[in-house]
Amino acid sequence: MNFHALSVDQLSSARDDLQDLYRALRDAGLSLDLTRGKPAVDQLDLSNELLSLPGGDDYRTATGADTRNYGMGDGIPELREIFAEILGVPVANLVAAGNSSLELMHDVVSFAMLHGTVDSDRPWVRDEKVTFLCPAPGYDRHFAITEDLGVEMIAVPMLPNGPDVDLCAQLVADDPTIKGLWAVPTYSNPTGITFAEDVVERLMTMPAAAPDFRVFWDNAYVVHTIVDAAPPALPVLQIADEAGHPNRPFVFGSTSKITFAGGGISFFASSTDNLDWFRSHMSKRTIGPDKVNQLRHAKFFGDADGVRAHMRKHADLLAPKFRLVLDILDDRLGDSKVASWTEPEGGYFVSLDVIDGTAAKVIELAADAGIALTAAGSTYPYKKDPYDRNIRLAPTFVEIDDLRSAMDGVATCVLLAAADALLA
Ligand code: PLP
Repeated sequence: MNFHALSVDQLSSARDDLQDLYRALRDAGLSLDLTRGKPAVDQLDLSNELLSLPGGDDYRTATGADTRNYGMGDGIPELREIFAEILGVPVANLVAAGNSSLELMHDVVSFAMLHGTVDSDRPWVRDEKVTFLCPAPGYDRHFAITEDLGVEMIAVPMLPNGPDVDLCAQLVADDPTIKGLWAVPTYSNPTGITFAEDVVERLMTMPAAAPDFRVFWDNAYVVHTIVDAAPPALPVLQIADEAGHPNRPFVFGSTSKITFAGGGISFFASSTDNLDWFRSHMSKRTIGPDKVNQLRHAKFFGDADGVRAHMRKHADLLAPKFRLVLDILDDRLGDSKVASWTEPEGGYFVSLDVIDGTAAKVIELAADAGIALTAAGSTYPYKKDPYDRNIRLAPTFVEIDDLRSAMDGVATCVLLAAADALLA
């Protein structure tokens, strides 16, 4: 029933029923966690062959280099080749690094703060103010990096085809303190949307008041489809170059949710000048990445098709979980018109919008019933959702039966909070 079409009496009686349901939910004594987007155990098992690779005395790259020693700061060529194809960048512009792309993003923002970029006239930290545009809902850990490093953040709406690019273009053109924009272009965290081609072009071509404006292009979910095939990664370096902004994109990638989370490989790609800048600072920070792990990964995948074939196995495990979440949302909330949600074709999350002013209440009700949801506001800069509306659901880690119970409970909490709000 459409909650907005009910009389006060009808809504109060619906609320009474929901309170009964909620009491039963609380009495069930659940202890379930839908907070973090982690791979489930069966997904990790898909990569167990890595545990015995490279194997024996197999430690040399295809060109005979010894992966056990220092050196090869850009990473091993065979793995860079595979991921250059996956990320849509030239091999020469791609570095394979350590185990965490988030760490690379933290490094790159820190390098810019401390030293400035190749297009800066001084370190960013010397500017009175440094601002980043933060498409929201977005990834909480991106926002945490910039908050931690003293960068001011402006939320811009995330639309079904990418960030509100008209607003981005206007802000970036007018405000020289805007030095960066966070972007997750494929199966975005948490909305699951993929940026449309015209949005990508606009982001790379729009004039910026700051000559050292950068787009932090975190393509973490570039191959993480749950349908037949992921959209190909757009050649963002080439687009930016042709637009006369070769140094604008900083591209990041990661195998954390392809093989082992925290035990994979991260990637950084950019223009030649940006890479020289990156190397000049990175070489002070480390004498080189873990190339044994890189070799292990190169042998495991074989080639880019090997990565895609591996991702189809992930999709077989994940698609039923996403389907279940969407079915429950549809069954329990579809008619009530008190919530809307994304229907992602990939990535790790479903983004749920509830009636404005009720997200924190839903999360609190769920917590009291033993269902942990990502903290209210997390998908916005400074953890402040101005509408108190967005909830990030992470369906991957829990077992499917637990997911069913958790989502059913979440739906009850959404309806109860909505009934309370509409009756207030
Ligand atoms: N980027 C995005 C958009 C993510 O959602 C995540 C993990 O949730 C990461 C990066 C983390 O990547 P890594 O494990 O390579 O640090």
